[in-house]
Amino acid sequence: MLVESDVLNALRNVFDPDLKRDIVSLGFVKEIQISGGHVSFIVELTTPACPVKELLKQQAKSVVAALDGVTEVTVQMTARVRHSAGKKAEDLLPGVRNIIAIASGKGGVGKSTTAVNLALALAETGAAVGILDADIYGPSLPRMLGIVGGPQFADPDATRIKPVEVHGLKAISMGFFLTEDTPMVWRGPMVGMAVEQLLRDVDWGELDYLIVDLPPGTGDAQLTLTQKVPLSGVVIVSTPQDVALADVRKGINMFRKVDVAVLGVIENMSYYLCTSCGHREEIFAHGGARQEAENSGIPFLGEIPLDTAIRQDSDSGRPILVTNPEGAQSKIYRQIASQLAARVATLEFSAAKGPSIIVE
Ligand code: ADP
Repeated sequence: MLVESDVLNALRNVFDPDLKRDIVSLGFVKEIQISGGHVSFIVELTTPACPVKELLKQQAKSVVAALDGVTEVTVQMTARVRHSAGKKAEDLLPGVRNIIAIASGKGGVGKSTTAVNLALALAETGAAVGILDADIYGPSLPRMLGIVGGPQFADPDATRIKPVEVHGLKAISMGFFLTEDTPMVWRGPMVGMAVEQLLRDVDWGELDYLIVDLPPGTGDAQLTLTQKVPLSGVVIVSTPQDVALADVRKGINMFRKVDVAVLGVIENMSYYLCTSCGHREEIFAHGGARQEAENSGIPFLGEIPLDTAIRQDSDSGRPILVTNPEGAQSKIYRQIASQLAARVATLEFSAAKGPSIIVE
């Protein structure tokens, strides 16, 4: 007679490659049901964007199928994103589980384009995702997501702002609140305070990931912000030129000094793919960002080509993940998003000191 412990023992042979433990001791296996030769169970991952979801599913299925007496196996994959551990996120934003900032050493490297497409890629997996455009110098979210008009107030007494819902994301931009007359000199000192206020005063609801598009640079404004906001960590976007790479190094050092986890580095406009012949052109020596990341012991999350379609789509209010979800570029964003989600889950898991965080 097949019993639950047989199934659990078999599943102890399935390892999560990121957390480096088996899925049973990680507490991922739920609701085992045995009915004659039919075994069904749930595997609950730490993120719906898990890069090895299919692999784990296949492995779980095959180890159980190999047990004596099993004729059919049904595996249901689910996910529950955990609260960022060891930080004060729960106090400031009880419904928001992880806040991920996207930073760059300088403007124009494609930080906002990357932030938007990563947010869309995460949302596509079923995660609840918000995006906060904190780029006070050039808020571009309204343009990139094609938002016309501003946010609404959630309550009749108008104390909380309702984010704009667009392409499955909840979005708020500093651009909604700045006028062209807001003097530039005010903007730097404003950012920390304003972002903290937007986190508190916006009715974000339940979010698995809130992506914060930071102002470019790694100066005082960004520093204040990262200290006021309980971040899971920060992603640095760079182009491959030497000057940009020097900024990556500076950024990594700065975030480390203030104890903000650098989740990874992305190289944008990494190489050029010719739209007519598919030829790949390395305009700047590509691969520099990977090297910088490796030198600093930080994961390299991926490289995005310089691509006319990415630019046209993001500048017309419909990002490439919306206009061409099956295209090669969208696949790249998806891959990077799942690397990022896995990294966030791994960090949280180790910060929570073992499996206690997953026990219900
Ligand atoms: P940042 O937020 O760093 O200032 P943006 O995301 O606003 O940069 O991008 C600057 C410009 O570069 C925009 O016109 C955008 O459409 C374009 N862009 C960004 N990434 C790419 C890419 N991978 N290929 C082509 N154009 C891009």
